[in-house]
Amino acid sequence: MNAENLFRRITGRAPAGVWSAPGRVNLIGEHTDYNEGFVLPFAIPHRTSAAVRMREDGRIRVASTFAAEPVEVGLDELDALFPVTLRRAQGPGEAQGPGEAQGPGEAQGPAVPAWAAYPLGVAWALRHAVDARAGSALPGVDIAISSDVPVGAGLSSSAAIEGAVAVALNELWALRLDPVALARAGRRAENEAVGAPTGIMDQMASMLGRADAATFLDCRTLETRSIPTGFDAEGLEVLVIDTRVTHSHSSGGYRERREACERGAALLGIRSLRDATVDDLPRAAELMDDVTFRRVRHVVTENQRVLDTVAALRTHGPRAIGDLLTASHASMRDDFEISVPELDTAVESALAAGALGARMTGGGFGGAAIALVERDAVERVTDAVAAAFAASGFTAPHQFTVAPSEGPRRDI
Ligand code: ADP
Ligand code: MG
Repeated sequence: MNAENLFRRITGRAPAGVWSAPGRVNLIGEHTDYNEGFVLPFAIPHRTSAAVRMREDGRIRVASTFAAEPVEVGLDELDALFPVTLRRAQGPGEAQGPGEAQGPGEAQGPAVPAWAAYPLGVAWALRHAVDARAGSALPGVDIAISSDVPVGAGLSSSAAIEGAVAVALNELWALRLDPVALARAGRRAENEAVGAPTGIMDQMASMLGRADAATFLDCRTLETRSIPTGFDAEGLEVLVIDTRVTHSHSSGGYRERREACERGAALLGIRSLRDATVDDLPRAAELMDDVTFRRVRHVVTENQRVLDTVAALRTHGPRAIGDLLTASHASMRDDFEISVPELDTAVESALAAGALGARMTGGGFGGAAIALVERDAVERVTDAVAAAFAASGFTAPHQFTVAPSEGPRRDI
């Protein structure tokens, strides 16, 4: 069922409009975001839609095709639902400081179903993003959500739902917030309402998506640059290989990696690993234990690979980035140790079948890999990956191509 039909079923009326926002895939730059480093994601064609209409009574109701029951609360109850101490006004780098986001263990579990904390959290964050008087005067809304972004595959269905709700409310509530402010509201919902300690990459990638371009993001300054990929013109496709291994049990591993990065930065005497370069690695090796060093080496070399990828796209075109993607995978497998056998099989079998480069993408411990593939080789690579999974006794992967796509829009 689409969002508009769900809206009619829940409310008995037509929505005022339908807005949508895309998921994203990260081309390169993994676990660099919370180290104030660089990432290069792009928005994908898969989108989440929100059908929305204002209502008179100051209440907010959210429904999703993913959930059996709608959830309804008063807008004035949101502060009690998400009782996190308000932080001071956010400056550019502020939202990225290591350790500021809440870990899942620290969050008070919201008194609503987990999925509802995403759209309700966005409404809550947007109310706080405008001044207190304006926020308290905002009318209630009904929101119905549908999506074709695979959930939990590392394609950021969470940023897509946040983005769709954020752009819808921005327009209906006439907030006039810019895309970066909307991305911040999405991140805030995810960190403080849901309690997931993520960076802002996903929301920025979804919000700033452009056809045929990736978004370079400096996670310290939040400076962004749209980087044409040239995939389409060069006859290349990005194949997503969703291993269907869930990454939902990864929060412990994620936290452990964050702590190792903070420890490494402290031992180097720097604010974050963003401030280290490959020239600092010999000194790092002297200063810390082997595991911490390898975590540091991944982040430092990955930042460099993002910069090299941007430069290669500019000067040599997309075929030149294949080896950087593959090197990124090796670093995550061997140094950061966040790959799993299914992801390694996806990468190795895609490369063996002629992919120009391949890597796991997303937080790790499951989720998806991507492979850069000549258009006329997509079928061959897809078949080879499927065969390799079957030979290893793994669940068949879900494979599809994604082209860099546009960000949020109003559809109806
Ligand atoms: P990812 O962003 O990689 O897909 P996350 O764990 O960050 O995985 O976010 C997935 C969660 O977001 C889901 O478990 C659900 O709570 C929420 N979510 C995503 N899309 C929807 C949707 N269309 N309807 C309801 N909840 C959704
Ligand atoms: Mg997510």
